[in-house]
Amino acid sequence: KMHNLIQELRGNVRVFARVRPFLPDDNVDRDENPMCVPRSETALKLYDKTHHKGHNFEFDKVFGPCVGQDVIFKEVSELVQSALDGYHVCLFAYGQSGSGKTHTMQGIGHSEMRGIIPRAIEQVGQYKETLEHDGWSYSMQVSFVEIYNEVIRDLLREEDDPSLDLKHEIKVNPDGRRYITNVHMVPLDPCDIEAVEDVMTLAHRHRTTGSTDMNSVSSRSHSVFTLHLTAVNKKNKQALRGTLNLVDLAGSERLSRSHATGTRQKETLHINKSLSALSSVFVAIGKKASHIPFRDSKLTYLLQPSLSGDGKCLMFVNLSPTEGSAQETLCSLRFAAHVN
Ligand code: ADP
Ligand code: MG
Repeated sequence: KMHNLIQELRGNVRVFARVRPFLPDDNVDRDENPMCVPRSETALKLYDKTHHKGHNFEFDKVFGPCVGQDVIFKEVSELVQSALDGYHVCLFAYGQSGSGKTHTMQGIGHSEMRGIIPRAIEQVGQYKETLEHDGWSYSMQVSFVEIYNEVIRDLLREEDDPSLDLKHEIKVNPDGRRYITNVHMVPLDPCDIEAVEDVMTLAHRHRTTGSTDMNSVSSRSHSVFTLHLTAVNKKNKQALRGTLNLVDLAGSERLSRSHATGTRQKETLHINKSLSALSSVFVAIGKKASHIPFRDSKLTYLLQPSLSGDGKCLMFVNLSPTEGSAQETLCSLRFAAHVN
């Protein structure tokens, strides 16, 4: 009860800021300083060179460019545990393209560079063993969808036959949980590293098809990877059903309007609409408004259980250190500051 009260008092959305390091592709001079700098564990400053001033921001946590994936994961593993305990949990990555969203969520390969998704699955695997030892049976299913122009695509569909072009709608279970019609729910043993990798590879393949420019599609769509976790007590049949949603949001950059025509213009409108719908939901939650506009976008409607009630939610705002990105970085910081 006390825990619930505290949650209610502070709102159930936390925000972590993460600044990525300079990269070779940034083409910066050796002596260039980062524009976005942590000042303490919770404070961050953005330098605005053109206007000769600094903007200060406070978040729940701030991570600098040297903070590794393991440290980031330690900070979210409590939320992964909440999903294992039957809560609805959502982690978002927000930021302009190239700021480190996919790195934070997915990471690379098997190394220290792997991100939250593979590490969360590992944690599920460890917990599963403990639970089974204690007389529970445990199962995990995963789904992986992309929301592009307010249309849901199943990233785990088996083949790319256009006649299998099924409609995906968000529906509500009697207990309030969301599900999407015709979307594959793949049973996955969290300890089976190869099976986990196959799923990620399949999703990656679907994300790239239909586009000659992979980066542009992934930066214009939201991807939602969901772990559906069920623990059943073998003696009394008590069931705990949690969900962990790991969301890599569309790039937040203000897309140039001048050249936006046709498809591009439609994309721009949809991205702006769904990111601003997300922002409106956060603002309404923060104000404890009586009406929260979950239904204004597919993303917020899908994630409603994590964003409301005793759901738990955390947003990473990913930031680039470069001077050229400073204006976009300021926009991201302002968006994130609204959230909490
Ligand atoms: P986004 O998904 O926001 O477009 P990415 O995650 O693809 O951005 O990051 C862009 C590039 O920066 C990638 O090459 C990625 O590996 C690298 N990168 C991002 N964050 C970090 C980090 N914290 N440490 C090292 N490299 C990073
Ligand atoms: Mg990305």
